[in-house]
Amino acid sequence: MFGQIDPPQRLLMGPGPVNVHPRVLRAMTADMLGQFDPEMTGYMNQTMALYRQVFMTENRWTFLVDGTARAGIEAALVSLVEPGARLLILRAGRFGLLLSEIAQRIGAEIRTIDIPWGEVAPPEQIEAAIIEHRPQVFATIHGDTSTTMAQPLDGVGAICRRHGVLSYVDATATLGGMAVATDAWGVDVVTGGLQKCMGGPPGSAPITISDRAAAHIMARRHVEAGIRGADAQDGSRTRIGSNYFDLAMIMEYWSEKRLNHHTEATSMLYAAREAARIMVEEGLEARFARHRAASEAMAAGLRAMGLTLYGQDAYRMANVTGVFIPDGVDGERARTRMREEFEIEIGTAFGPLAGRIWRIGAMGYNAMKHKVLITLGALEAVLAAEGHALPRGAGVDAARASYEAMPGAAS
Ligand SMILES: *Cc1c(COP(=O)(O)O)cnc(C)c1O
Repeated sequence: MFGQIDPPQRLLMGPGPVNVHPRVLRAMTADMLGQFDPEMTGYMNQTMALYRQVFMTENRWTFLVDGTARAGIEAALVSLVEPGARLLILRAGRFGLLLSEIAQRIGAEIRTIDIPWGEVAPPEQIEAAIIEHRPQVFATIHGDTSTTMAQPLDGVGAICRRHGVLSYVDATATLGGMAVATDAWGVDVVTGGLQKCMGGPPGSAPITISDRAAAHIMARRHVEAGIRGADAQDGSRTRIGSNYFDLAMIMEYWSEKRLNHHTEATSMLYAAREAARIMVEEGLEARFARHRAASEAMAAGLRAMGLTLYGQDAYRMANVTGVFIPDGVDGERARTRMREEFEIEIGTAFGPLAGRIWRIGAMGYNAMKHKVLITLGALEAVLAAEGHALPRGAGVDAARASYEAMPGAAS
């Protein structure tokens, strides 16, 4: 007989998933409701209202796609991008590559702006590429966790609108940790996840959709026999090539029509609702400041230990920090020691950065002073045990000083 689930109490300081806020865990233990029970549809409407605040938007269409963050990405792309349509993708890391992989399966005509990992693209470069390629949709990542860089998106939505281009942003890693300013950026579709800065479990993908993107998606609406009845479909548009990820159908499910599609993942809805409630209660600005304070302290501590940070300071994500593995240290052995001796997980890296950097997160419920200090102290001990000479105590002291230099920073 296998034992009851009883995982070790690890401190998850990687790029996600991270430890879940206890209130979110408690919300998930609540019992099921029928899909069309007024209590349930009430919770769905409250969740839509809460995520408008999380996404900093007035968009009517703001709801959850059931599945991990990738479900939101796939739903957005398969619903926005028609087969044969041109899609311009800004690629600066692993998740940019994922967008092309999904777009390829859709049969989109893919154009890319490829920039070196660790860098970001200025808006002029994005506009020049839009003028050159004339895409139907522009897609990018806000914070690409593979590189720990955040692409600035101020003005990008306006550029897209000026050229009649729909825009999509994957904000999975930044939602809840940095401003994801949907309306201020003027972007059309933004998706996220719960297991990064929202402090929830993986399995729900919040999404927000502008009216103009919703009109484009609705024009591709599929008529499902038996439930939706006869309905006009614009013959000039191809139908959305997925049933589960057909955003037009999911929108009708979340609308007043409540047209049945899937069964809303009830426990995940409870989790998403509670995670957003916690964020709104904390206040968005306070929450972003808490993430900034944690990552600045982490960065200060790592530097004081004599380590070198990866990427450009000005564009660092405020929730995960890339740091070079020092010469002579086996990165995976050190990570194993962190886990086995300290019950702390830090992140490895992918592709060109594999074996070169660790990615240390301080996200959501883990963006807290004591967790930053504990992680730095453990890393110092592990590096010393691995024979790497470093100033003892300097990392933790520098992180504490960093917190002290930020009066009022929530810890
Ligand atoms: C973590 C992450 C994802 C993938 O999310 P899943 O929940 O694993 O599907 C996608 N995009 C970005 C930017 C991420 O950081």
